[in-house]
Amino acid sequence: MRIYGSGSHPGESFDPRMNGYEREWLRVRRHAGSPCNAGLLRTMSSLPPDTRAMRQTLYAALAAFPVGFVLVLVALGLLVYHVVTPDARWWEILHISINSILISAFGGLCFSAVAATVVSRIHYRRGAYRCRFCDRPLKGPGIPCECPEAQALRTDSR
Ligand SMILES: [Zn+2]
Repeated sequence: MRIYGSGSHPGESFDPRMNGYEREWLRVRRHAGSPCNAGLLRTMSSLPPDTRAMRQTLYAALAAFPVGFVLVLVALGLLVYHVVTPDARWWEILHISINSILISAFGGLCFSAVAATVVSRIHYRRGAYRCRFCDRPLKGPGIPCECPEAQALRTDSR
């Protein structure tokens, strides 16, 4: 298991059952209280875990798009190669090509969505996103915490 950040600050003791995100949250909160660490918090390695988890989700979505695009394009290319007769007209070829690219773009978007969902689920399960009132891990996107503070906020915003 990878433990995020530089680790080992004197006087810090972690529960060994905690995963990386729980340790990270604990450290961010401790540092947020002390003014001397305010600058440190802004560096990339010490961003809050939820910010970094969101970035990782975004990167996963961006990386999955070209992968999905190429996979669908290759699959369609193979299909077209076997189906289209050699005496097809040039406009037919052009038509098929444009359609293939459109379908591939859609395939890339689907891949992107799946990758983002999977990565986001992993982050939620590992407790990267937490309630800002009671600090319990949130269950999923759009699911508010069960604590009274979060419930009150939910009814207020309606
Ligand atoms: Zn809560």
